[in-house]
Amino acid sequence: MTTIAVLGSTNMDLVAYVEKAPQRGETVTGREFRTIPGGKGANQAISAARAGAEVTMIGAVGNDAFGLRLRDTLEHSGVDTDDLRTVEGPSGTAHIVVDDEGGNAIVVIPGANGTLDHLSPGDEGVIAAADTLLLQLEIPLAAVVAGAEAARRHGVRTVLTPSPARTLPPELLAVIDLLVPNQHEAATLTGLTDPRAAAVALLEQVPEVVVTLGAEGSLYAARDAEPLTVPAPPVTAVDSTGAGDTFVGCLAVAVGEGRPMPEALRWAAAAAALSVQRAGATASMPYRSEIDALYA
Ligand code: ATP
Repeated sequence: MTTIAVLGSTNMDLVAYVEKAPQRGETVTGREFRTIPGGKGANQAISAARAGAEVTMIGAVGNDAFGLRLRDTLEHSGVDTDDLRTVEGPSGTAHIVVDDEGGNAIVVIPGANGTLDHLSPGDEGVIAAADTLLLQLEIPLAAVVAGAEAARRHGVRTVLTPSPARTLPPELLAVIDLLVPNQHEAATLTGLTDPRAAAVALLEQVPEVVVTLGAEGSLYAARDAEPLTVPAPPVTAVDSTGAGDTFVGCLAVAVGEGRPMPEALRWAAAAAALSVQRAGATASMPYRSEIDALYA
């Protein structure tokens, strides 16, 4: 069993489903409201735990009802929350309006995630005990850098999902082993819209890159090999929310178990294909037996 630490966000997604999103100054009546546990850190932790890893979540929730539910959701999926602190104030929230065409508009309030601007005593030990550290950009950058540097000190593999898209300081990329942007994030990082050109350009800063391409699959580039395209299984997608996090969590599990990259990418693509056929981000994440069944 591989061991994974996740340093990142937990958010409660507050989702309003409407026929058409309101314009400025307008009020509309929606159809349905749901509260869905999310945040890219928690999503990747749940994905990896369901795929069969031993996972610890390093993060923060608020001392509110959302915080209790976020912690409970992680524990229910088998994620260790001993290093998930509860801080004074609200949990992180994402306020999402989804219209009938599947378009969305989102406001994220970091809440407790915003307090994660440094590593706490104990975090380094959790990172040192892992095979892999998963990082995203929904907590203050200072903590992401500190976490990646701690991982490097202990020979722990670092995987960064550069989302939300932004330019990154060279000192962070210098301690990342595998960067997994989607097409849009790869373009933001490089100024190049062609994913292959972007991946190759990113190899100047990190040794391995996987650019995810939605229904088109993914593109893998490493310094010592020709870029490789891995297709996604053809499926009918009903909700792609969380597909990227499912993919990264499962990729980390497969690589952590020692599988060669092409095989790990196909296994992660099978997992993500399962997730897009079901509604919800964490709710749709598959268990290991389901991934193995589709992969076989
Ligand atoms: P999201 O923000 O929706 O979580 P993302 O933008 O981070 O996703 P994508 O590139 O859209 O990432 O998708 C990640 C992976 O999920 C893809 O590489 C692919 O394997 C899988 N995937 C996404 N959409 C589909 C689809 N329609 N059919 C099959 N697989 C898909």
